[in-house]
Amino acid sequence: MATACLWACCVASGALAQTPTTASTPRLNEADWTACLQRLQAPAQQSGVSVQTWQSLVSPLAPDASVLEKLDNQPEFKTPIWDYLAGLVDEERIAQGQQLLKEHQSTLARVQQAYGVDAATVVAVWGVESNFGQSFGRYPLVQALGTLSCFGRRQAFFQKELFATLRIAQGGHVAPEDLVGSWAGAFGHTQFMPTTYERLAVDFDGDGKRNLTRSIPDALASTAHFLQKASWQSGLAWGVEVALPASYPLQHTGRQQKKPASAWAESGLRLANGSPLTQVFAPSTPLGLIVPAAAIAQAGLGRGPAFLVSRNFDALYSYNAAESYGLAIAHLSDRLRGMEPFASAWPTNDLGLSRQQRRELQTLLTLRGHEIGAIDGMLGEKSRAAIRAEQTRLGQPSTGRAGQLLLKALQPDSAKQ
Ligand code: CA
Repeated sequence: MATACLWACCVASGALAQTPTTASTPRLNEADWTACLQRLQAPAQQSGVSVQTWQSLVSPLAPDASVLEKLDNQPEFKTPIWDYLAGLVDEERIAQGQQLLKEHQSTLARVQQAYGVDAATVVAVWGVESNFGQSFGRYPLVQALGTLSCFGRRQAFFQKELFATLRIAQGGHVAPEDLVGSWAGAFGHTQFMPTTYERLAVDFDGDGKRNLTRSIPDALASTAHFLQKASWQSGLAWGVEVALPASYPLQHTGRQQKKPASAWAESGLRLANGSPLTQVFAPSTPLGLIVPAAAIAQAGLGRGPAFLVSRNFDALYSYNAAESYGLAIAHLSDRLRGMEPFASAWPTNDLGLSRQQRRELQTLLTLRGHEIGAIDGMLGEKSRAAIRAEQTRLGQPSTGRAGQLLLKALQPDSAKQ
């Protein structure tokens, strides 16, 4: 989501998706809610929200306590980067993205001309943010942001987003009933936060409205505009996978610690296929080295893939403020260009699952009698509980994590390779 993924990342991943719970939902005090709304009305009006908008969209609402649980939700374990990438850059998403590149070819060419961002990058953001428009999130924004404006941490932040949402509805650009998105307020094809929308959304289909939920041209152009404003440099690769000399020290890595490509070459770094870096980057191009799995590399399994990344990776990073999501977008864009998967293996003997494999796992869990709800590839709390139960039964560590080892153990013998 554009600029707010510090709390929860994009709805497309399913990686962090939780099944909504009701049993433990706290009750919110009605008097506090009423008093808070009364307090917020004056600053809302000062920010440009009319009395009529406030009365029609905010006054009738009850707060939604479930968003506060999201705000405070701590993931039960740190999701390894290979799990994010397995779900976000899988064969389904690559095939669908390639189809959409063709379908929207002329729009994407105009977007590139206007903002300098290429088609594969724009479509990769679209795929990671909302699964190409198929997952917008399910929270009515005014209710979610209203609740977060009155209860919990970061109320001042969410008040700004609430007021922006109301101004968007008031301006007639997006219908109020379309203002539905993530619990934290990101909405539409590109999962813009409301204030990001106000700064950066563009009308690209020329109907006079900046509509990121109903207009694919508006959404694609707005994404490119976001990246342009994040200092995207036209024609520059986001980065490349590199081969590190075996003894290369990893203390001083990080995307912000940039050195010219020529300096990296002098330190012995080459492209993963052994070619010189100059095949991709001019010698003076500033690049940072990232080794995403270095900190969690297991003994004897290596450090995993390493990448030299340019300022364009920083632009992708700013979309979600998460390196894993930046790398997912970057890698998906490369796969859409026909490039190969990473050359180096991740340091694990239990890789993550594609969405197709997650659905298969859910089917197998259901067949073993677990109640997990819809077979949707989204691993919510019920799926995690069933996974833990099966891991215990199989003598595996009970982590709740879905990986290849568990899938293989549950598959009937005929499906095993
Ligand atoms: Ca439009």
